[in-house]
Amino acid sequence: AKLLKIQVALFALDVWFAAERTKQLLCYVKCRKRMKMVSRLMRFAVETPELLDDIAIPDTRTRNADPCTAKGCKWPKSGCFVNVPYEISSDFSQTQRKFIIDGLKRFHGLTCIRFVPRTFRHRDYIHFFSGNGCWSYIGRQDGGQKISLQKNGCLYGSTVQHEVLHALGFNHEQVRSDRDKYVWIRYQNIKKGKEHNFDKKQTNNLGTPYDFTSVMEYDNKAFSKNGKPTIVAKCNPNLKFGHAKQMSVNDIARVNKLYKCYNQKFMV
Ligand SMILES: [Zn+2]
Repeated sequence: AKLLKIQVALFALDVWFAAERTKQLLCYVKCRKRMKMVSRLMRFAVETPELLDDIAIPDTRTRNADPCTAKGCKWPKSGCFVNVPYEISSDFSQTQRKFIIDGLKRFHGLTCIRFVPRTFRHRDYIHFFSGNGCWSYIGRQDGGQKISLQKNGCLYGSTVQHEVLHALGFNHEQVRSDRDKYVWIRYQNIKKGKEHNFDKKQTNNLGTPYDFTSVMEYDNKAFSKNGKPTIVAKCNPNLKFGHAKQMSVNDIARVNKLYKCYNQKFMV
């Protein structure tokens, strides 16, 4: 009887240990989930990051324009296509949501980029929301990255394409490494404090020419303090530009070259 008592006591102890371990495991899973949620919330807590005009600056400060595409800020290719997961905030109405999706679909017919609705399996993705103005990061960032399309003011086909091109790794036309061959920057006409928008970057131009019809080209009077042009075309000083309604042939060619979209259909 004594032995039986001891056996029962040992069994009860086993059960207790098992229950404790399960509790600990459950707590661990819960804690990890909570930690993940907290870190996600923290990432999205900053509604408007530091901006250089419409380009958001990552906290790490290690990346700038196009050169990052040589160091891993391109979106990865899987088979023949580059899948870019996205999600659209409930800030937008169904009509606005459809407008953004239609803008993304424009890339599908012209490039090997495929915007796919984000699932839990996707670590890196684009989150469209209606923030303060229209802005985007340049290239793929780690984890979710935002593109702000303010409801009143950014829902234009050209703006959606412009901000998405930033996220794919492209910079403004007037900061290209070879821009001095094509344009004069009139610093004397630029508003004080806005000169940085014209800083030249070591971009990879992918063998495409400077394009005044690019959706990434600024207005020739961008950031003007006196109504006079800030960017002047060397080929024709009276040329007015920066009003593209959609991606130009060169904008599309650049996407296809950067992401090596070899399908004949996409080659421009
Ligand atoms: Zn921009």
